[in-house]
Amino acid sequence: MSTADAGGGFSAGSLRGGARGVVDHRLARRHLINEFRRGRLRQHEVCDAHPELIRAARNIGSESRVTCPICQESKLRLVTYVFGTRLPAQGRCVTTAAEMSALNARSDDLTAYVVEACVDCRWHHLLRVLPVGGQSKRLAAGS
Ligand SMILES: [Zn+2]
Repeated sequence: MSTADAGGGFSAGSLRGGARGVVDHRLARRHLINEFRRGRLRQHEVCDAHPELIRAARNIGSESRVTCPICQESKLRLVTYVFGTRLPAQGRCVTTAAEMSALNARSDDLTAYVVEACVDCRWHHLLRVLPVGGQSKRLAAGS
């Protein structure tokens, strides 16, 4: 059993690469994969996705065209979570474009995390972080 099962709630902190200061998620991802291929990281160290993330990836994730870099068996699945004021602490899992535009219409500053996950080996990594809601609307308005 994974340590993540031991009552640890799902949160932004469960998303690898979500740490402050990490700007280039692709670079961080490549680094991790290289470390694994060089044998400096074991598979269980990089394939430790939270059970909630794997469940979301399996049930509502959208399949990407990218094959899992670790097990090289399955296509990665993408899940989008939105975190912010008046949203659940574990984030809102967004599955449709309509849902995303509704969140984007809010005045609150929200943050969307796009995560890739492999439902076979439990590899996971943050792909993109996007501003949603108030902040991006102000930027669009140019003021
Ligand atoms: Zn995999």
